[in-house]
Amino acid sequence: MGRENRDFHIYFFPFMAHGHMIPISDMAKLFASQGVKTTVVTTPLNAPIISKATQSSKTCSGGVEVKIKIIKFPSVEAGLPEGCEHVDSLPSPEFRTNFFKATSLLQEPLEHLLLQENPSCLVADVLFHWATDAAAKFDIPRLIFHGCSFFAMAASDIVTKYEPFKNTSSDSDPFMIPDFPGEITMTRAQVPDHVKENIENDLTRMVKRAKEAEKTSYGIVVNSFYELESVYADYYRNVLGMKAWHIGPVSLCNRNNEEKALRGKAASINEHDFLKWLESKEPNSVVYVCFGSVAKFNASQLKEIAMGLEASGHDFIWVVRAEQDYDMEKDEWLPEGFEDRMEGKGLIIRGWAPQVLILDHGAVGGFVTHCGWNSTLEGIASGLPMVTWPVAAEQFYNEKLVTQVLKIGVGVGAQKWVRVVGDSVKKEAVEKAVRRIMVGVEAQEMRSRARELAEQAKRAIEKGGSSHSDLNALIEELSSH
Ligand code: UDP
Repeated sequence: MGRENRDFHIYFFPFMAHGHMIPISDMAKLFASQGVKTTVVTTPLNAPIISKATQSSKTCSGGVEVKIKIIKFPSVEAGLPEGCEHVDSLPSPEFRTNFFKATSLLQEPLEHLLLQENPSCLVADVLFHWATDAAAKFDIPRLIFHGCSFFAMAASDIVTKYEPFKNTSSDSDPFMIPDFPGEITMTRAQVPDHVKENIENDLTRMVKRAKEAEKTSYGIVVNSFYELESVYADYYRNVLGMKAWHIGPVSLCNRNNEEKALRGKAASINEHDFLKWLESKEPNSVVYVCFGSVAKFNASQLKEIAMGLEASGHDFIWVVRAEQDYDMEKDEWLPEGFEDRMEGKGLIIRGWAPQVLILDHGAVGGFVTHCGWNSTLEGIASGLPMVTWPVAAEQFYNEKLVTQVLKIGVGVGAQKWVRVVGDSVKKEAVEKAVRRIMVGVEAQEMRSRARELAEQAKRAIEKGGSSHSDLNALIEELSSH
């Protein structure tokens, strides 16, 4: 970044969920490390999470500190308990509507900040459709952060437009996504409810407004790299006509263990203890199992996972979210004597894992993932074959990218899109899928393709790489806007 761009000031405004705040913190770091004046707008209880994750930006050569601007979150005004500022702290899923209402009340304080600080552009979360109007009032270009792959954004647009699932005879009957490269197949059961049901509710209204805001926004910033999904990046831009910049994988801006461990919540495990545990393992021998920050499973599904992992015979690290709906302490979700039998073989992390730190460790050889885009891309950047277990959101599309296009993973057999609580998959399916990605010729082939992609990912963010070039093109274009 040239000195002439010194006055360029980028504003980021993420939705208050880890799957949004983590990549936006990484993106903010990426811009700040290029010497760009960078500010993240957030609320009081979310500020420490962002400042922790971005603190190292100033230590990069030429880097500057990421500034944080705080606006009050209107929890009580929107009918939420005091202090509920993050989707993690919702008392129950029914409060989601109140949460969205609270975020829509942030338009006014955001406009106040834009007026005061007059940034050069605003990168706001796709869930804040109103941010486009807010930025337009001050003639500030608004960019959208979707948090999705090119593949998922494009596939979802096409499926919503042509409704190919209407021509199938049952929920499990496969259909091909029409007018879409790669002959991608999926089933009606895997399409999100709000797309196939044609209902009007708060969520569908928000999705519709977000789509409208796309048309009037300046463009889209994508956490991906060109070599990974070039056909779909081209399709998204040239066929669907979207203006987009790919600048990822943004997680790669975290270069050392400390930076990797500072993303998201504080780890529920002592870093040195589990690193020591991993050090004692053979290369590629441990499977890492994690379903992101939102998806939930009931106790019987967790038991099936436990039994499947045990039967696979592979060492594992398994992250189980502490916010599940039953008593974690009583371990009623574990088979009798499981932890004793797994002593030294399996590590359960109850709560939050420093995911990228684990994925990057040489002892880890496979990843069982819910296919959230951040996790999927982090798995790719670490060169790992994956067991895909999509649950909700756009995760089934990401599964198709991994299994049908990139061919670096196998599906566990999740059949149905559900809002939060995962589909029921039997232990035999878990065992089989884990074995398929860990050992044998198929696993070796998937691992070598994944390794190649990881190399390409690293090159993409280095000087002259595709993401580095798009990042600089974006900065240049916005600075001369
Ligand atoms: N994550 C983590 N530790 C955990 C769970 C999640 O670091 O124990 C991070 C993960 O690395 C990713 C993000 O949280 O960056 C989750 O985003 P993703 O899109 O994968 O899924 P979501 O949580 O939005 O469903």
